[in-house]
Amino acid sequence: MATAYLGVGANLGEKKKNTAIAIKRLAQRAGRILALSPFYESPAWGFVSENDFLNVALAIETPLSPFRLLAITQQIEREMGRTVKTSGVYQDRIIDIDILLYEDRILNTPRLTLPHPLMHERRFVIVPLARIAPGLLHPVLGKTIGELAEAF
Ligand code: ADP
Ligand code: MG
Repeated sequence: MATAYLGVGANLGEKKKNTAIAIKRLAQRAGRILALSPFYESPAWGFVSENDFLNVALAIETPLSPFRLLAITQQIEREMGRTVKTSGVYQDRIIDIDILLYEDRILNTPRLTLPHPLMHERRFVIVPLARIAPGLLHPVLGKTIGELAEAF
């Protein structure tokens, strides 16, 4: 079993409901949810949108490898109507599930980068994550999530 930390976000439709559905499906298919942060609301990041974001961070105990876990998170995204992003442009989404950390695994492939390459730049990722795992060490930056949250 491995412990992974996921970020779940939505900025379209019934955000709370969609987030809850995604978490339920993760629990059914990827493993036991060990911790769940409070909802974190913020204006859209990286692009102009009228739709605010709702984000949560969760810890999950999973028997799946990182790539199997990614396959499940992407399957859930697709089922829920997430369309593939075009040309690297940030856009509104019904649901976004990112693998933030998987144990202290470091991976650099186009399909999967661990830790998630932008997590430390995103307040809406770090702030909720710090609520459930302030002492967790970012294996590349060598700082705890709590320390990274102080940067904001
Ligand atoms: P973002 O999550 O940055 O808003 P997207 O969800 O649209 O962007 O990006 C998804 C792409 O990022 C997928 O093609 C996926 O293979 C890739 N990816 C790389 N590393 C990760 C990760 N740690 N978690 C989720 N997706 C990742
Ligand atoms: Mg994503």
